Amino acid sequence: MDKLKEKILAHGVVVSDQVLKLDALLNHQVDPQLTMEMGREFASRFRDTGVTRVVTVESSGIPVAFATALELGVPLVFARRKKTLLAESNMLCERVPSFTKGIVTDILISRDYISEDDKVLFIDDIIANGDAAQGLIKIIERSGAELVGAGIVVEKQFQSGAGQLREQGIRLETLVAIASLEGGKVTFG
Ligand code: 5GP
Repeated sequence: MDKLKEKILAHGVVVSDQVLKLDALLNHQVDPQLTMEMGREFASRFRDTGVTRVVTVESSGIPVAFATALELGVPLVFARRKKTLLAESNMLCERVPSFTKGIVTDILISRDYISEDDKVLFIDDIIANGDAAQGLIKIIERSGAELVGAGIVVEKQFQSGAGQLREQGIRLETLVAIASLEGGKVTFG
């Protein structure tokens, strides 16, 4: 996706060797047209897998997950983040550290919206250490649903999350790979 790369170069801000601020296109402002293109791309890559639900984690994954779900003609379910877990028996919950916020949050999905009859596609904005993805995968496993794959907009190759998912045998499709942020510069993989 050349347009996405151009936009990252034009508007991404390298905060450190580890963190790329993408507020202008993923984490604060949303470009609807580009987001729809991303959704079409993920939909075309996973169309043959029989997806019944797209799943993401609030909040930055929602726009692209929505675009993907719209293209595939299936519902979107977003895991909610909560700081404390109130006893809710119908909720599947996992505790995950947040890469950018430096806190631990609980992510939750109701059993009403994911079940053993589902084939689930996980969509998200960025993968770093993979904690959010691993948490969501555990929830999907516990629901009895089948995970058909993961579509993530930006893969930071110098962190372990993406490699780990592939090692687990999960089909991972990413739209842009970043090899390094060293020297304040975005180097694509
Ligand atoms: P992980 O759980 O894979 O370590 O981190 C995933 C989440 O943290 C993403 O959904 C994203 O919102 C946030 N994140 C991780 N790395 C970055 C980054 O370099 N830039 C921004 N803007 N968000 C990031």
